[in-house]
Amino acid sequence: MICSKCSEKAVFLEPKLCKKHFIDYFEKKVLDTIKKFKLLNKKDRVVVACSGGKDSTTVLYLLKKFHGNVVALAIDEGIKGYRDKTLVDLKKFCKDNDIKLQIYFFEKEFGKTLDIMLKKKNYPCSVCGTFRRYLLNKCAKGFHKIATGHNMDDEAQAVLMNLLKSNTDLLLHSVPITSKRKGFVQRMKPLYFCSEKEVAAYALLKGFDVGFTECPYMEESFRNVVRNSLNNYEKEKKGSKRNILEKHLKLINDIKISRKSFQYCSICGEPSQSDVCKACELIKSFK
Ligand code: SF4
Repeated sequence: MICSKCSEKAVFLEPKLCKKHFIDYFEKKVLDTIKKFKLLNKKDRVVVACSGGKDSTTVLYLLKKFHGNVVALAIDEGIKGYRDKTLVDLKKFCKDNDIKLQIYFFEKEFGKTLDIMLKKKNYPCSVCGTFRRYLLNKCAKGFHKIATGHNMDDEAQAVLMNLLKSNTDLLLHSVPITSKRKGFVQRMKPLYFCSEKEVAAYALLKGFDVGFTECPYMEESFRNVVRNSLNNYEKEKKGSKRNILEKHLKLINDIKISRKSFQYCSICGEPSQSDVCKACELIKSFK
């Protein structure tokens, strides 16, 4: 199979590209997302939430390349045989690339590792996610933005999961950048439109020393059920994941516009879509 842009052998199939052209294509896609959704300002102090896996390592590498000054922040939940290994890769990556790394521990912050917590409680991802989000926000205070490695697959799964669970608030978080809210550090996702396969290929082609093993709790998670269904659906209907995200962003935008256009009538003070409400307009017309 030949690259669609030159005569080199293609290393990626959709789109068909050789190593050089795939790397250019991927980096442009990330840069386009950063520009289109205004993820970064020049003076932003950015912290990258890192796990040592392919996604966050890719974000760390690219933000260092595009933005310069970034700090890596990792959370060690205490998942034996998994997080200890990914953190070894992350420490090496940060050392090799001259990036400052800060690590925070569940055990130190909450008194127990995740493995111990789960002896008393089920739903590992729910417990883990709650503490991770809390800690990430707390430890990122002083930075303008937290960048995460969420890719298109993760985000399409999150949209479906939150719809199925009626988590309307969390649905608003599945966007390339979250809104500014007091007490919350803004989160941005430069890989929002990059598929899991694309990120894996990029990490591999760049030679990032990252493991591709999964968290042992993933198997029993709700996300895993949604992920498998979505992957099957994508096989049947190509482009479904991207479609979910595009429709989701449009819906969120429409809601914001309709909220913005909401105001109060200048005559009676009741809620209104325009300066004067329909009732007052009618009353005027009867005079
Ligand atoms: Fe935490 Fe679940 Fe992710 Fe494992 S799969 S790191 S338990 S959120």
